[in-house]
Amino acid sequence: MKKDVIIIGAGAAGLMCAIEAGKRSRSVIVLEHAEKSGKKILVSGGGRCNFTNINLHYDNYLSRNPHFCKSALSRFTPHDFIAMVEKHGIRYYEKEMGQLFCRGSSNEIVNMLKKECSKAGVEIWLNCKISGIKREDCFTLSTNYGVLESESLVVATGGLSYPKLGATDIGHRIARQFGIKITSLKPALVPFTFNAKDLKIFQEISGVSVDAEVNCDNNHFRGYILFTHRGLSGPAILQISSYWNEGDPIIINLLPGLDAYELFRTKQNSRMEMHNLLSGYLPKRFVREWCELYMESKPLNQYNDKELRKIAHHIHNWTIRPNGTEGYKKAEVTLGGVNTDELSSRTMESKKIPGLYFIGEVIDVTGQLGGYNLQWAWASGYAAGQYA
Ligand SMILES: Cc1cc2nc3c(=O)[nH]c(=O)nc-3n(C[C@H](O)[C@H](O)[C@H](O)COP(=O)(O)OP(=O)(O)OC[C@H]3O[C@@H](n4cnc5c(N)ncnc54)[C@H](O)[C@@H]3O)c2cc1C
Repeated sequence: MKKDVIIIGAGAAGLMCAIEAGKRSRSVIVLEHAEKSGKKILVSGGGRCNFTNINLHYDNYLSRNPHFCKSALSRFTPHDFIAMVEKHGIRYYEKEMGQLFCRGSSNEIVNMLKKECSKAGVEIWLNCKISGIKREDCFTLSTNYGVLESESLVVATGGLSYPKLGATDIGHRIARQFGIKITSLKPALVPFTFNAKDLKIFQEISGVSVDAEVNCDNNHFRGYILFTHRGLSGPAILQISSYWNEGDPIIINLLPGLDAYELFRTKQNSRMEMHNLLSGYLPKRFVREWCELYMESKPLNQYNDKELRKIAHHIHNWTIRPNGTEGYKKAEVTLGGVNTDELSSRTMESKKIPGLYFIGEVIDVTGQLGGYNLQWAWASGYAAGQYA
């Protein structure tokens, strides 16, 4: 069987690309090895799919070439995706900081994409296993459904994170097969792990979250950090994990927007216990453990100025050293991917191999937390869909 376009991967980018190519009257087939389409979309945003972010800026993306994402993102914006969502009557809301979520469930987004695919005449083949790819006059794919040929081949197989949802390294293998470079890969938007000694405090207060500012290597994020049985998670931690390299310390400001020393000074003559004062600003369970570990809690009038300065400094610069991350098993995304130098930023086509396209997370473009990764998938899929 011969098609104009074969897309590997029925995820966010693959389905968007299929819709656009189909609208151009290209014959399109999407090959998906899982038993259903869009499995990551379904679990995204805790089942409500944070499908875009209306405050999107190019700075929200990490890539060796920070300019690469601009062209596609400017040609398919959050408002373009919102228009599609509204056309399908999907109700949504802004949770915070421009993050848009479905009021119902992520299923509505997957159904919308499937409906648009069928309207555009796109076929989706599930449970399809690809065993080989060749390129002579056209692309030839060997699959469990037989041999398929196409003029254009679009690789939309995502990153390595969440293998239980169907992630594989096939996209990176295809790139290597065609001599296309891959940047180094690592799990991102991922919780941190710690050695047994440090982990003890986190386990004692597992389930507690603190609104903090988290810093690493000149990058900082404000948001909740969550203590868990395995280490540290929560939005601010996931964000900073994308900028963390092995051995880097993480510096946490536990009272952002407040001057702890000034706060202590106003109570310097009081008999109030330090932990009681701090509990007015931080969760009680956290304060108890933290004070036990790092200082002697006593009435405020018993500290001298030097001690108060030291505690204040520690509160604003709590330094922790993760010993690793929870890896691809728990990472929302993969940092790195197909080197953007290899692709046209306008079409996502390989510069070396005409007709071969890469879209979505398989490329070295990684969004921060907050709907940016799906927006990249939609936008890069849309871009390739105009040309494949
Ligand atoms: C738990 C979780 C929550 C997330 N929440 C959000 C969120 O709320 N907002 C946001 O913006 N981003 C979120 N993300 C990230 C976002 O889901 C991804 O960045 C996005 O789905 C990437 O789109 P993609 O099309 O490139 O890849 P995917 O959506 O992963 O699609 C790739 C497809 O390729 C298929 N595939 C893989 N290997 C093969 C193979 N060998 N043969 C055939 N098919 C194959 C896969 O089964 C999959 O269907 C979340 C990720 C996770 C893991």
